[in-house]
Amino acid sequence: MKKKPICSFCGRSMPQMFRGEDDSYICYDCIENGHKMVAQIIAESAKTDTIEGVSLGTLPKPAAIKEFLDQFVIGQDDAKRFLSVAVYNHYKRLLQNQSKDETYKDVEIEKSNIIMVGSTGTGKTLMARTIAKMLAVPFTIVDATVLTEAGYVGEDVESLLTRLLQEADYDVAKAEKGIVFIDEIDKIARKSDNPSITRDVSGEGVQQGLLKLLEGSIVNVPPEGGRKHPEQEFIHINTQNILFICGGAFDGIERKIAQRLNTQVVGFDAQQKQKIDKNDLLQYIAPQDLKAFGLIPEIIGRLPILTYLKPLDREALRRILVEPKNAITKQYQKLLSMDGVKLTFTAEALDYIVDKAIEFKVGARGLRALVETVMMDLMFSIPGQKVSELQITKELAQEKIEKADSLKLQNAV
Ligand code: ADP
Repeated sequence: MKKKPICSFCGRSMPQMFRGEDDSYICYDCIENGHKMVAQIIAESAKTDTIEGVSLGTLPKPAAIKEFLDQFVIGQDDAKRFLSVAVYNHYKRLLQNQSKDETYKDVEIEKSNIIMVGSTGTGKTLMARTIAKMLAVPFTIVDATVLTEAGYVGEDVESLLTRLLQEADYDVAKAEKGIVFIDEIDKIARKSDNPSITRDVSGEGVQQGLLKLLEGSIVNVPPEGGRKHPEQEFIHINTQNILFICGGAFDGIERKIAQRLNTQVVGFDAQQKQKIDKNDLLQYIAPQDLKAFGLIPEIIGRLPILTYLKPLDREALRRILVEPKNAITKQYQKLLSMDGVKLTFTAEALDYIVDKAIEFKVGARGLRALVETVMMDLMFSIPGQKVSELQITKELAQEKIEKADSLKLQNAV
């Protein structure tokens, strides 16, 4: 006689049951209970009234956050302000249940993800990294270029959360309050002008996948990341309270901005047109320019805070060499001080290094490579000698940089 099927969960034989592919069964009661448990887990994870070590009273204020950024990042005041306020509000959102004021009890503060637009090497990643130093929530930086639509070579968008989870030591509740910096978001712009008939698996497909994360939903995250471990069990992460900061160079977006400004201003306000600074069009960036560049409107809608970074001029580059808390020249001074050597740079030497960075078009990133080129031989020879002082003059810097291959320098960036 054929055995009566039983529920694989409670072991009872019930009149109404679902049958799984592998001949297992689940009864209606167990489905109901399972549903309740899942709902409870989701509700628990959405409860966000604590962050380790931070309360409404001790929260760093935007001005303090900006001051901290000032120690490491030169210029970029607008972006710093936006970021400071966004991070501050992120914290407040997480602590909103601590608020004693009953007036706004039913008001839900929505999260405000951020997008920063600025040429490469102007400090987007530096800003994100610096802010991470002062945060009490997990933080990770991921590159959008590695992402592809599910099922294609590359990484699924969910892998962003794997990284965050790892940063949080696999503490799901902690990860659910974290911050993710997505770099090179412009690389997943829609490539509609591309004549290729193949699917746009690294562009629009990824944007669609990302949307789910930005909106706030429960996402199945592979704990090890990648697709190499198909047997791994997924971890459920609620992205409702995760703050996303996106950054991208958006090369060529100035043209879209110029087009928009031209059509907007013609015959409308000629004076306004005169005021436009054509050398720095990024400062006028608006959401529609991102759309023209190839981001889908849904993504733009989920990144309500749009800010920009200024191109770095000579003065900014000069300051970057010496001012930040861990400026590259300070790093070499520290290194040599450990050998008992006092290292100094003349003003002319610093100017020369900046000139070369501009000439080679290597920007702020190139400053490090240039200073390294100047210092390399000296770092080798000085420690063994009985020297207590070393001054880098323009002539010395020139000699070392001219000896080095400029192509190599450009490639080092
Ligand atoms: P990106 O905008 O491409 O993310 P990064 O933040 O990675 O640029 O900048 C590259 C390097 O250049 C940084 O590590 C830092 O040394 C230097 N740098 C760039 N912008 C600034 C800045 N505004 N202040 C100080 N250093 C900067």
